Amino acid sequence: MAAQLIEGKKIAVKIKEELKKEIEDFKNRGIQPCLTSIQVGDDPGSNVYIRSQKRSCENTGIKYQLHKFEEKITQEEMVDFIQKLNQDKEVNGIILQMPLPDHLNGRALQRLIKPEKDAEGVSPANMGMVVYGEPLMGPCTAMAVFELIKSTGVDLYGKEVTIVGHSDIVGKPTALLLLDKFATTSVCHIGTGERGTLPEYVRRGEILIVAVGKANLIKGEWVKEGAIVIDVGINRVEGKIVGDVEFEVAKERASYITPVPGGVGPVTTAMLLKNTVTATKLQ
Ligand code: NAD
Repeated sequence: MAAQLIEGKKIAVKIKEELKKEIEDFKNRGIQPCLTSIQVGDDPGSNVYIRSQKRSCENTGIKYQLHKFEEKITQEEMVDFIQKLNQDKEVNGIILQMPLPDHLNGRALQRLIKPEKDAEGVSPANMGMVVYGEPLMGPCTAMAVFELIKSTGVDLYGKEVTIVGHSDIVGKPTALLLLDKFATTSVCHIGTGERGTLPEYVRRGEILIVAVGKANLIKGEWVKEGAIVIDVGINRVEGKIVGDVEFEVAKERASYITPVPGGVGPVTTAMLLKNTVTATKLQ
């Protein structure tokens, strides 16, 4: 039987509807939450993400500001700018768009953003709260993955989870969020792939989360019967956006699966808005 689609778009709409009420309350007190975005250069992927952030912010009543710099900007100038935003009372949330040009140290810049303005939830302080099982402003994509799994109603206790991808912003924090619910969590990465044991781990996963960025890396036939599949990957193949999982075959085996696009992406953006609202409360 074909899997049920986990409709990220609908889940995102619900999250944003709830946020609208909080934003309305702020407005009644003369406050409009403001998310400030910093972009260096003109990366097409990042432009798409910025447009969607702007649209979502405006639809929910958050002010969205974009500061766009030329590629030649120096690390010192970026540091000064971020410090200025940290002090600016009008700015509640800050997001540094990736990718950055090679001469800029993105991680160092991200660390400069005050934790209470860190809308992406990637500062050491916010990551630390994920480790402690108390994410207040957690990393948006990991929080989105968690939300999508929750929407299926599954009881995570003791479940076998396989995560493919161990990045700081997706794989690692997602693993921590699930461990905290007592899921038995395996995290695979390039080392697993090169050793040839990836299919074994995927076959075990009652919940499978894939965040690599390689189209069709995960063969549909590896997916466990009845598994919940969350595909984070975004790949452009012949002009179409696809995930990392062989969708057509996987959907015949899974019980629930996220579409790409329309799965993780919209919920990630909703989490960015949620963090901005939390940031406004904290300030
Ligand atoms: P990353 O490049 O930082 O990490 C990739 C991970 O994949 C690493 O852990 C690496 O070891 C692993 N890997 C690479 N080749 C592998 C192989 N052959 N077998 C097993 N593991 C392998 O990636 P990221 O920033 O976490 O992003 C991953 C994907 O998710 C990308 O496609 C990105 O565009 C997408 N993404 C989507 C959203 C969203 O909101 N939908 C958000 C963030 C990232």
